[in-house]
Amino acid sequence: GRSVHQIQSGQVIVDLCSVVKELVENSLDAGATSIDVRFKNQGLDSIEVQDNGDGISPQNYETVALKHYTSKLSSYSDLETLQTFGFRGEALSSLCALSKFSIITCLAADAPKGTKLEFEESGKLKGTSTIAAQKGTTVTVENLFNNLPVRRRELERNIKREWGRVTGVLGQYACIQTGIKFSVSQQAAKGKKTTLFATKGNRTTRDNIVNVFGAKTLAALVPLELTLELEPTAGQGRKLVSKGDDGKTQIRVVGHISRPLSGEGRQTPDRQMFFVNARPCGLPQVSRAFNEVYKTYNASQSPFIFANIELDTHLYDVNVSPDKRTILLHDQTRMLENLKTDLIALFESQEY
Ligand code: ADP
Ligand code: MG
Repeated sequence: GRSVHQIQSGQVIVDLCSVVKELVENSLDAGATSIDVRFKNQGLDSIEVQDNGDGISPQNYETVALKHYTSKLSSYSDLETLQTFGFRGEALSSLCALSKFSIITCLAADAPKGTKLEFEESGKLKGTSTIAAQKGTTVTVENLFNNLPVRRRELERNIKREWGRVTGVLGQYACIQTGIKFSVSQQAAKGKKTTLFATKGNRTTRDNIVNVFGAKTLAALVPLELTLELEPTAGQGRKLVSKGDDGKTQIRVVGHISRPLSGEGRQTPDRQMFFVNARPCGLPQVSRAFNEVYKTYNASQSPFIFANIELDTHLYDVNVSPDKRTILLHDQTRMLENLKTDLIALFESQEY
Protein backbone atom coordinates (compact mmCIF):
# COMPACT_ATOMS: atom_id res chain seq x y z
CA GLY A 1 0.00 0.00 0.00
CA ARG A 2 0.95 3.61 -0.14
CA SER A 3 2.99 5.08 2.66
CA VAL A 4 2.16 8.33 4.41
CA HIS A 5 5.44 9.61 2.98
CA GLN A 6 4.26 8.89 -0.57
CA ILE A 7 0.95 10.61 -0.02
CA GLN A 8 2.53 13.72 1.48
CA SER A 9 5.16 13.78 -1.23
CA GLY A 10 2.41 13.82 -3.82
CA GLN A 11 1.33 17.16 -2.42
CA VAL A 12 4.73 18.78 -2.97
CA ILE A 13 5.45 17.17 -6.31
CA VAL A 14 2.11 17.33 -8.06
CA ASP A 15 3.20 17.04 -11.69
CA LEU A 16 6.10 17.17 -14.12
CA CYS A 17 6.26 20.91 -13.86
CA SER A 18 6.81 20.87 -10.12
CA VAL A 19 9.69 18.39 -10.51
CA VAL A 20 11.39 20.64 -13.01
CA LYS A 21 10.85 23.80 -11.01
CA GLU A 22 12.21 22.28 -7.79
CA LEU A 23 15.33 20.93 -9.48
CA VAL A 24 16.09 24.08 -11.44
CA GLU A 25 15.60 26.22 -8.36
CA ASN A 26 17.97 23.99 -6.40
CA SER A 27 20.58 24.53 -9.12
CA LEU A 28 20.05 28.28 -8.98
CA ASP A 29 20.29 28.21 -5.19
CA ALA A 30 23.59 26.33 -5.55
CA GLY A 31 24.99 29.25 -7.51
CA ALA A 32 25.12 27.48 -10.84
CA THR A 33 26.09 29.44 -13.95
CA SER A 34 25.25 26.56 -16.25
CA ILE A 35 22.09 24.46 -16.06
CA ASP A 36 21.35 21.68 -18.48
CA VAL A 37 17.88 20.10 -18.40
CA ARG A 38 17.50 16.84 -20.30
CA PHE A 39 14.26 14.96 -20.85
CA LYS A 40 13.73 11.48 -22.14
CA ASN A 41 10.31 10.84 -23.62
CA GLN A 42 9.13 14.27 -22.43
CA GLY A 43 10.02 13.39 -18.86
CA LEU A 44 7.94 10.23 -18.72
CA ASP A 45 11.14 8.16 -18.80
CA SER A 46 13.51 10.58 -17.13
CA ILE A 47 14.24 14.16 -16.15
CA GLU A 48 17.83 15.11 -15.56
CA VAL A 49 19.11 18.45 -14.32
CA GLN A 50 22.84 19.04 -14.38
CA ASP A 51 24.46 22.12 -12.89
CA ASN A 52 27.93 23.46 -12.19
CA GLY A 53 26.99 24.80 -8.77
CA ASP A 54 28.54 24.28 -5.34
CA GLY A 55 27.89 20.55 -5.12
CA ILE A 56 26.95 18.65 -1.97
CA SER A 57 29.51 18.05 0.80
CA PRO A 58 30.13 14.46 1.95
CA GLN A 59 28.92 15.31 5.46
CA ASN A 60 25.49 16.01 3.96
CA TYR A 61 25.11 12.83 1.91
CA GLU A 62 23.16 11.08 4.69
CA THR A 63 20.72 13.92 5.27
CA VAL A 64 20.30 15.60 1.92
CA ALA A 65 17.15 13.71 0.89
CA LEU A 66 15.61 13.37 4.34
CA LYS A 67 12.35 15.15 4.92
CA HIS A 68 12.76 18.73 6.13
CA TYR A 69 16.49 18.73 5.61
CA THR A 70 17.56 22.04 4.14
CA SER A 71 20.88 23.83 4.15
CA LYS A 72 19.24 27.14 3.37
CA LEU A 73 17.54 28.35 6.50
CA SER A 74 19.64 29.27 9.49
CA SER A 75 16.96 30.78 11.68
CA TYR A 76 13.23 31.27 11.59
CA SER A 77 13.49 35.01 11.00
CA ASP A 78 15.28 34.24 7.75
CA LEU A 79 11.91 33.26 6.32
CA GLU A 80 11.00 36.90 5.89
CA THR A 81 14.07 37.95 3.97
CA LEU A 82 15.02 34.71 2.32
CA GLN A 83 16.65 35.11 -1.07
CA THR A 84 16.86 31.46 -2.05
CA PHE A 85 14.04 29.62 -3.79
CA GLY A 86 14.07 26.62 -1.49
CA PHE A 87 13.77 26.45 2.26
CA ARG A 88 11.41 23.62 3.09
CA GLY A 89 13.63 20.65 2.41
CA GLU A 90 10.77 18.71 0.87
CA ALA A 91 11.61 18.37 -2.80
CA LEU A 92 14.34 15.75 -2.75
CA SER A 93 12.65 13.70 -0.06
CA SER A 94 9.42 13.76 -2.06
CA LEU A 95 11.19 12.73 -5.25
CA CYS A 96 12.67 9.71 -3.45
CA ALA A 97 9.16 8.59 -2.61
CA LEU A 98 7.77 9.17 -6.09
CA SER A 99 10.48 8.02 -8.52
CA LYS A 100 13.74 6.24 -9.07
CA PHE A 101 15.95 9.02 -7.79
CA SER A 102 19.70 9.53 -7.79
CA ILE A 103 22.28 12.29 -7.48
CA ILE A 104 25.78 12.67 -8.83
CA THR A 105 27.68 15.42 -7.09
CA CYS A 106 31.20 16.76 -7.11
CA LEU A 107 32.97 19.52 -5.20
CA ALA A 108 35.44 21.61 -7.18
CA ALA A 109 38.42 20.19 -5.31
CA ASP A 110 37.44 16.60 -6.10
CA ALA A 111 36.91 16.89 -9.88
CA PRO A 112 37.10 14.88 -12.11
CA LYS A 113 35.81 12.38 -9.59
CA GLY A 114 32.37 12.65 -8.10
CA THR A 115 30.02 10.57 -6.02
CA LYS A 116 26.80 8.91 -7.03
CA LEU A 117 24.20 8.82 -4.27
CA GLU A 118 21.27 6.43 -4.28
CA PHE A 119 18.38 6.58 -1.88
CA GLU A 120 15.62 4.52 -0.38
CA GLU A 121 12.02 5.57 -0.82
CA SER A 122 12.15 7.19 2.62
CA GLY A 123 15.04 9.44 1.58
CA LYS A 124 17.56 7.41 3.58
CA LEU A 125 20.91 7.07 1.82
CA LYS A 126 21.17 3.59 0.33
CA GLY A 127 24.68 3.70 -1.04
CA THR A 128 27.42 5.74 -2.64
CA SER A 129 29.88 5.02 -5.43
CA THR A 130 32.66 6.91 -7.13
CA ILE A 131 32.01 8.11 -10.65
CA ALA A 132 33.57 10.52 -13.17
CA ALA A 133 32.06 13.99 -12.76
CA GLN A 134 32.65 17.70 -13.13
CA LYS A 135 32.10 20.24 -10.38
CA GLY A 136 28.39 20.50 -9.63
CA THR A 137 25.36 18.30 -9.24
CA THR A 138 23.27 16.14 -11.54
CA VAL A 139 19.90 14.99 -10.29
CA THR A 140 18.08 12.21 -12.14
CA VAL A 141 14.40 11.41 -11.74
CA GLU A 142 13.25 8.27 -13.56
CA ASN A 143 9.79 6.76 -13.87
CA LEU A 144 8.02 9.57 -12.06
CA PHE A 145 4.88 8.42 -10.20
CA ASN A 146 5.46 4.78 -11.14
CA ASN A 147 4.45 3.75 -7.65
CA LEU A 148 1.26 5.84 -7.76
CA PRO A 149 -0.62 4.19 -10.65
CA VAL A 150 -3.49 6.66 -10.80
CA ARG A 151 -1.16 9.66 -10.82
CA ARG A 152 1.04 7.99 -13.41
CA ARG A 153 -1.87 7.31 -15.75
CA GLU A 154 -3.03 10.89 -15.35
CA LEU A 155 0.46 12.13 -16.24
CA GLU A 156 0.60 9.95 -19.34
CA ARG A 157 -2.85 11.03 -20.43
CA ASN A 158 -2.07 14.73 -20.01
CA ILE A 159 1.51 14.62 -21.23
CA LYS A 160 0.91 17.00 -24.13
CA ARG A 161 -0.43 19.72 -21.88
CA GLU A 162 2.17 19.02 -19.20
CA TRP A 163 4.97 19.22 -21.73
CA GLY A 164 3.72 22.59 -22.91
CA ARG A 165 3.73 23.88 -19.35
CA VAL A 166 7.17 22.45 -18.60
CA THR A 167 8.83 23.95 -21.65
CA GLY A 168 7.01 27.21 -20.97
CA VAL A 169 8.28 27.48 -17.43
CA LEU A 170 11.83 26.52 -18.45
CA GLY A 171 11.71 29.29 -21.05
CA GLN A 172 10.78 31.66 -18.25
CA TYR A 173 13.77 30.70 -16.09
CA ALA A 174 16.05 30.82 -19.12
CA CYS A 175 14.88 34.34 -20.00
CA ILE A 176 14.87 35.89 -16.55
CA GLN A 177 18.21 34.46 -15.35
CA THR A 178 21.03 36.55 -16.77
CA GLY A 179 24.60 35.29 -16.62
CA ILE A 180 23.46 31.68 -16.70
CA LYS A 181 23.79 29.23 -19.56
CA PHE A 182 20.54 27.41 -19.70
CA SER A 183 19.88 24.57 -22.09
CA VAL A 184 16.93 22.26 -22.53
CA SER A 185 16.89 19.10 -24.62
CA GLN A 186 14.53 16.26 -25.27
CA GLN A 187 15.04 12.77 -26.59
CA ALA A 188 12.06 10.80 -27.87
CA ALA A 189 11.71 7.17 -26.83
CA LYS A 190 13.70 5.97 -29.83
CA GLY A 191 14.64 9.24 -31.50
CA LYS A 192 17.68 11.44 -31.34
CA LYS A 193 18.32 14.24 -28.92
CA THR A 194 17.08 17.69 -29.90
CA THR A 195 17.89 20.97 -28.20
CA LEU A 196 14.78 23.05 -27.58
CA PHE A 197 16.72 26.19 -26.71
CA ALA A 198 19.95 27.31 -25.15
CA THR A 199 20.94 30.65 -23.67
CA LYS A 200 24.54 31.74 -23.62
CA GLY A 201 25.15 33.34 -20.27
CA ASN A 202 23.92 36.67 -21.64
CA ARG A 203 24.04 39.85 -19.61
CA THR A 204 20.49 40.95 -20.51
CA THR A 205 17.03 39.41 -20.56
CA ARG A 206 16.81 40.91 -24.02
CA ASP A 207 19.52 38.57 -25.32
CA ASN A 208 17.97 35.66 -23.46
CA ILE A 209 14.67 36.32 -25.22
CA VAL A 210 16.49 36.25 -28.57
CA ASN A 211 17.97 32.84 -27.67
CA VAL A 212 14.68 31.39 -26.50
CA PHE A 213 12.08 33.04 -28.73
CA GLY A 214 14.12 34.35 -31.64
CA ALA A 215 15.21 37.79 -32.86
CA LYS A 216 11.88 38.38 -34.61
CA THR A 217 10.08 38.33 -31.31
CA LEU A 218 12.41 40.87 -29.84
CA ALA A 219 11.98 43.26 -32.76
CA ALA A 220 8.29 43.51 -31.96
CA LEU A 221 8.84 44.44 -28.31
CA VAL A 222 9.36 47.66 -26.41
CA PRO A 223 11.26 47.77 -23.14
CA LEU A 224 9.23 48.01 -19.97
CA GLU A 225 10.82 50.10 -17.28
CA LEU A 226 8.27 51.46 -14.90
CA THR A 227 8.78 52.74 -11.40
CA LEU A 228 5.61 52.75 -9.38
CA GLU A 229 5.58 54.98 -6.34
CA LEU A 230 3.00 54.29 -3.69
CA GLU A 231 2.32 57.03 -1.16
CA PRO A 232 2.35 55.83 2.42
CA THR A 233 -1.13 55.38 3.84
CA ALA A 234 -2.38 55.75 7.40
CA GLY A 235 -3.28 52.11 7.75
CA GLN A 236 0.01 50.89 6.41
CA GLY A 237 1.80 48.66 8.85
CA ARG A 238 5.50 48.91 9.55
CA LYS A 239 6.26 46.01 7.28
CA LEU A 240 4.66 47.61 4.26
CA VAL A 241 6.94 50.62 4.31
CA SER A 242 10.02 50.08 2.23
CA LYS A 243 13.38 51.79 2.36
CA GLY A 244 12.56 55.01 0.46
CA ASP A 245 13.59 58.14 2.43
CA ASP A 246 10.23 59.76 1.86
CA GLY A 247 8.32 56.75 3.15
CA LYS A 248 7.12 55.96 -0.36
CA THR A 249 7.01 52.40 -1.49
CA GLN A 250 8.89 51.78 -4.71
CA ILE A 251 8.03 48.98 -7.05
CA ARG A 252 9.79 48.49 -10.37
CA VAL A 253 8.23 46.69 -13.29
CA VAL A 254 10.95 45.70 -15.73
CA GLY A 255 10.91 43.66 -18.91
CA HIS A 256 9.47 43.73 -22.41
CA ILE A 257 6.04 44.04 -23.96
CA SER A 258 4.66 43.94 -27.52
CA ARG A 259 4.55 47.25 -29.29
CA PRO A 260 0.94 48.29 -29.44
CA LEU A 261 1.02 47.75 -33.21
CA SER A 262 -2.07 46.44 -34.83
CA GLY A 263 -2.45 43.69 -37.35
CA GLU A 264 0.16 42.37 -39.75
CA GLY A 265 3.84 42.38 -39.12
CA ARG A 266 3.46 41.47 -35.47
CA GLN A 267 5.40 38.27 -34.97
CA THR A 268 5.25 37.81 -31.25
CA PRO A 269 4.14 34.52 -29.81
CA ASP A 270 1.15 34.78 -27.56
CA ARG A 271 3.13 34.40 -24.35
CA GLN A 272 2.80 36.18 -21.06
CA MET A 273 5.37 35.73 -18.33
CA PHE A 274 5.32 37.28 -14.92
CA PHE A 275 7.96 37.24 -12.22
CA VAL A 276 8.28 38.59 -8.73
CA ASN A 277 11.94 39.30 -7.99
CA ALA A 278 12.88 36.92 -10.79
CA ARG A 279 10.67 34.12 -9.49
CA PRO A 280 8.27 32.94 -12.19
CA CYS A 281 4.71 33.07 -10.95
CA GLY A 282 1.15 33.43 -12.02
CA LEU A 283 -0.23 36.88 -11.21
CA PRO A 284 -3.72 36.85 -12.70
CA GLN A 285 -4.66 40.36 -11.60
CA VAL A 286 -1.43 41.91 -12.80
CA SER A 287 -1.90 40.09 -16.07
CA ARG A 288 -5.44 41.41 -16.35
CA ALA A 289 -4.23 44.98 -15.82
CA PHE A 290 -1.66 44.65 -18.60
CA ASN A 291 -4.13 43.12 -21.02
CA GLU A 292 -6.81 45.67 -20.24
CA VAL A 293 -4.51 48.55 -21.13
CA TYR A 294 -3.08 46.82 -24.17
CA LYS A 295 -6.52 46.10 -25.51
CA THR A 296 -7.35 49.79 -25.73
CA TYR A 297 -4.49 50.13 -28.25
CA ASN A 298 -4.85 46.83 -30.06
CA ALA A 299 -8.03 44.90 -29.57
CA SER A 300 -7.20 42.18 -32.08
CA GLN A 301 -4.11 40.60 -30.54
CA SER A 302 -2.99 39.78 -27.06
CA PRO A 303 0.50 41.00 -26.25
CA PHE A 304 3.72 39.18 -25.52
CA ILE A 305 4.52 40.21 -21.96
CA PHE A 306 7.68 39.62 -20.00
CA ALA A 307 7.40 41.50 -16.72
CA ASN A 308 9.53 41.21 -13.63
CA ILE A 309 8.13 42.98 -10.60
CA GLU A 310 10.99 44.07 -8.38
CA LEU A 311 10.02 44.93 -4.86
CA ASP A 312 11.11 44.65 -1.28
CA THR A 313 10.66 41.15 0.13
CA HIS A 314 8.48 42.61 2.88
CA LEU A 315 5.89 43.62 0.31
CA TYR A 316 4.77 40.14 -0.60
CA ASP A 317 4.29 36.64 0.70
CA VAL A 318 5.49 33.47 -0.97
CA ASN A 319 4.73 31.06 1.82
CA VAL A 320 1.11 30.68 0.89
CA SER A 321 1.12 27.41 -1.02
CA PRO A 322 3.39 24.35 -0.97
CA ASP A 323 4.38 24.89 -4.59
CA LYS A 324 5.38 28.51 -3.80
CA ARG A 325 3.65 29.68 -7.02
CA THR A 326 1.02 31.73 -5.31
CA ILE A 327 2.40 35.09 -4.37
CA LEU A 328 0.44 37.63 -2.41
CA LEU A 329 1.29 41.23 -3.14
CA HIS A 330 0.33 43.23 -0.10
CA ASP A 331 -0.82 46.43 -1.71
CA GLN A 332 -2.05 45.10 -5.01
CA THR A 333 -5.01 47.37 -5.70
CA ARG A 334 -3.01 50.59 -5.48
CA MET A 335 -0.14 49.02 -7.32
CA LEU A 336 -2.38 48.04 -10.22
CA GLU A 337 -3.84 51.54 -10.51
CA ASN A 338 -0.33 52.94 -10.78
CA LEU A 339 0.71 50.25 -13.21
CA LYS A 340 -2.15 51.01 -15.59
CA THR A 341 -1.44 54.75 -15.56
CA ASP A 342 2.25 54.19 -16.29
CA LEU A 343 1.54 51.65 -19.04
CA ILE A 344 -0.74 54.11 -20.79
CA ALA A 345 2.03 56.70 -20.60
CA LEU A 346 4.49 54.19 -22.05
CA PHE A 347 2.24 53.33 -24.98
CA GLU A 348 1.44 56.98 -25.60
CA SER A 349 5.16 57.73 -25.85
CA GLN A 350 5.59 55.13 -28.61
CA GLU A 351 5.28 55.80 -32.27
CA TYR A 352 2.93 53.37 -33.88
P1 ADP B 1 15.39 23.02 -0.11
O1 ADP B 1 15.73 23.48 -1.50
O2 ADP B 1 14.07 23.54 0.36
O3 ADP B 1 16.51 23.25 0.85
P2 ADP B 1 15.39 20.37 -1.28
O4 ADP B 1 14.73 19.11 -0.86
O5 ADP B 1 15.03 20.93 -2.60
O6 ADP B 1 15.14 21.44 -0.14
O7 ADP B 1 16.96 20.15 -1.23
C1 ADP B 1 17.55 19.71 -0.01
C2 ADP B 1 18.99 20.15 0.09
O8 ADP B 1 19.77 19.46 -0.90
C3 ADP B 1 19.24 21.61 -0.21
O9 ADP B 1 19.03 22.44 0.94
C4 ADP B 1 20.70 21.61 -0.65
O10 ADP B 1 21.55 21.62 0.47
C5 ADP B 1 20.85 20.26 -1.32
N1 ADP B 1 20.75 20.36 -2.79
C6 ADP B 1 19.67 20.03 -3.55
N2 ADP B 1 19.92 20.24 -4.86
C7 ADP B 1 21.19 20.70 -4.95
C8 ADP B 1 22.04 21.13 -6.03
N3 ADP B 1 21.62 21.09 -7.31
N4 ADP B 1 23.31 21.54 -5.71
C9 ADP B 1 23.73 21.58 -4.45
N5 ADP B 1 22.97 21.21 -3.38
C10 ADP B 1 21.73 20.77 -3.61
MG1 MG C 1 14.72 22.96 -3.18
